[in-house]
Amino acid sequence: MVSNFYLPVEVFFGKGATQKVGEVARRFGFKGLIITGRRSSKENGSLQRVLDSLKKNGLQEILIYDKVKPNPTDESVNEAARLAVEEKVDFIVGLGGGSALDAAKAVSIVSSNEGSVWDYVKYPEGARLVPFYNRPVICIPTTSGTGSEVDRYSVISSPMRKEKLVVSHSLNYPKAAVIDPLNTLSMPPELTAITGFDALVHALESLTNRAQNFMAEEYAIKAIGLIARWLPVAVQEPDNLEAREKMSYAAMLAGIAIDHLGVAFIHTLEHPVSAHYPHVAHGAGLAALAPYITQYNYEYNKEKYALFAELMGYGNEAYRAVDALINLIETLGLPKNLKELGVEEGILDRLTEDVYMLSRHSFLVNPREPKELDEIRELYQRAYEGSL
Ligand code: NAP
Ligand code: ZN
Repeated sequence: MVSNFYLPVEVFFGKGATQKVGEVARRFGFKGLIITGRRSSKENGSLQRVLDSLKKNGLQEILIYDKVKPNPTDESVNEAARLAVEEKVDFIVGLGGGSALDAAKAVSIVSSNEGSVWDYVKYPEGARLVPFYNRPVICIPTTSGTGSEVDRYSVISSPMRKEKLVVSHSLNYPKAAVIDPLNTLSMPPELTAITGFDALVHALESLTNRAQNFMAEEYAIKAIGLIARWLPVAVQEPDNLEAREKMSYAAMLAGIAIDHLGVAFIHTLEHPVSAHYPHVAHGAGLAALAPYITQYNYEYNKEKYALFAELMGYGNEAYRAVDALINLIETLGLPKNLKELGVEEGILDRLTEDVYMLSRHSFLVNPREPKELDEIRELYQRAYEGSL
């Protein structure tokens, strides 16, 4: 087996790294567009820190697009892309959680090529258009979860279609990631738990799915150990900078792992949930699904699930992976089933159809390949009721 490793993102990591943004951005031109969420980057001071660094490096012409909502929409990506084109910006800074970073990367593609963002998302048969150009993007995460700062994915929602799909292309990597744990200190415990659980599922799914890459798996393994040790601490002690630093690092490692290995059914089944219920945070949806899907999968890659259980501190038997997840969800106060998230039983058929229509390419990647669509329907039912 041949494994490859490719990471075209320059990473700056550490407390105070935000001060570097101006120095990095100046390489890309004079005029920039910051893409961020509606409130948190203003409230926690990270936006001001970015602006100060840009100014200090002589970059005065900076526009701000601050309308990105969680589970970012095609409409906001297209709107920000029009702004980037009209204003002829040289570079883009994504500042915020995964939603702002994903939007910033997609804006880079859409503002540099024809069409709109939905032309670039991947259906099972591929994307409608292939991009040829991009604008330089610098990603500054303020959550520790998605790993978007180092990967080629942008997850975008279409409220009109009720679909959540992924732009995945080598032109969708940021040029640089500025990872400053200080920017995550303002996350409340619930958000820390939700985003940290996302990072854990990235590491779990990349390690256990059917893609193979021994180099990238090392990143997943390291991430699981760090998350098991530090996520509960970061949730209980929001000001613990060591825990914040370890979580930012783990999220980045898990991002590198999914960039090379992809994810699996926990993500595949989550996307239709937050597509139909945009108030559902990605990581919360993952928590409501993870134990049931792990129960379905673990016998199909016993070695890796046993390794996961061991790294989580549960001995090295594959079935213990389920216990590790259930107990962590309990400890962190994450949702235990889909019902708790407000998902209605009547929509489970539709979610199942969406998995088939939008993501059936993942059937061959998940550790266990379903033989019937009923297996997916059954998984949704179990996750809805909370029965293993
Ligand atoms: P998010 O959706 O970016 O943000 C969730 C909420 O947290 C927002 O209300 C945001 O407020 C707030 N927030 C962000 N940083 C904060 C901070 N430091 N302090 C206080 N509040 C803060 O959350 P996320 O979990 O990071 O990103 C989820 C999105 O990323 C989903 O759309 C998911 O599908 C996608 N995703 C992408 C990848 C990938 O590989 N690219 C992987 C996994 C998930 P404001 O809106 O006011 O800023
Ligand atoms: Zn995720």
